[in-house]
Amino acid sequence: MLPTNAYATHGPKEKLVPFSFDRRDPRPHDVVIEIMYCGVCHSDLHQARDEWGGSIYPMVPGHEIVGRVTRVGQEVKKFKAGDLAGVGVLIDSCRKCKPCLDGLENYCVEGMTGTYNAYERDGKSLAQGGYSTQIVTDENYVLHVSEKLDLKAVAPLLCAGITTYSPLRYVGVGPGMKVGVIGLGGLGHMGLKFAVSFGAEVSLITTSASKEADARRLGAHHVVLSTDKAMMKKYDSYFDVLLNTLSANHSYTTYLKLLGLNGTMINVGLPTAAGEVQPFALLKNRRSIMGSGVGGIKETQEMLDYCAEKNIVADVEVIPMQQINEAYERMLKSDVRYRFVIDLKSLK
Ligand code: NAP
Ligand code: ZN
Ligand code: ZN
Repeated sequence: MLPTNAYATHGPKEKLVPFSFDRRDPRPHDVVIEIMYCGVCHSDLHQARDEWGGSIYPMVPGHEIVGRVTRVGQEVKKFKAGDLAGVGVLIDSCRKCKPCLDGLENYCVEGMTGTYNAYERDGKSLAQGGYSTQIVTDENYVLHVSEKLDLKAVAPLLCAGITTYSPLRYVGVGPGMKVGVIGLGGLGHMGLKFAVSFGAEVSLITTSASKEADARRLGAHHVVLSTDKAMMKKYDSYFDVLLNTLSANHSYTTYLKLLGLNGTMINVGLPTAAGEVQPFALLKNRRSIMGSGVGGIKETQEMLDYCAEKNIVADVEVIPMQQINEAYERMLKSDVRYRFVIDLKSLK
């Protein structure tokens, strides 16, 4: 057994507190990773507080993990001790359904195994996430991380990065397209960087006027304040694609109105309540609305390699583990520029 230090929550209304547990000894296909940095995703907060229902405690959140391999099982082919490695939102899947065989393990028919707040495929071992000093994961679900990039700023790519990269690629974002990114948080700022890098005309649609200068620095061509009715009217029927990253409950119709003919709103945000969608707002301009969940392992590797080539990383604020509860409160106030990342040295 591998004794591991962590922070965990023991219930929906509890704060995160120090916690220790044992990781399994590596099996033949396992990689042991000493975690250096772990990003703080809004999904961590949703699950820690049981906002989606069904949370399992004690819970060590964290699914934007980067670190160095310390040991590998005897059958491991892809990694060796000393390599940089990353673990994202999933650590296993059935490996035999069509989506799994097509590299879309995130859409596994039996359901993917989450990095935390999930039981492993044996149905009884509780998976624990990256707010911890080490993780043991099957090599097939571990990513290669380039030595070229700033590691603390790479961590958020493992969730915020792939969650925005994947649907923007799927809908074919590129030159000549008008893309609106809704919300400038962890996901939003990565979506904005990717859409700019793919050559689209990109706008930020935000509730925070104070984020305008940052949005322009990140490459936004326009900034639309969603609380300003006149401005929202100006962009009526304007966009080809909207990337909706909002974590809070809201009316979808408000934003659907911004889509032009055949426009698509991609929903990646996961608020707790059902959002309101007016049928007439969908009918106009033959609009559609779709969802997207993270990305498969193959595409996550493709995204990481793309980021290494184009020098794309997250804008991060590094915190020690001990500040996680304050970080959650700031995230709720949309006060993060633009991703908190935990330095796990603080737990050693
Ligand atoms: P985040 O960093 O907290 O960003 C959310 C942004 O939403 C905020 O920065 C803010 O942007 C906007 N916002 C917050 N409250 C709002 C309100 N009341 N009204 C309007 N806008 C509001 O969160 P995140 O980590 O990017 O995650 C965003 C959502 O995506 C979460 O629900 C998360 O669970 C989900 N998620 C989904 C997937 C997936 O696979 N689909 C993966 C990861 C995360 P402005 O200040 O610019 O308005
Ligand atoms: Zn996430
Ligand atoms: Zn499967």
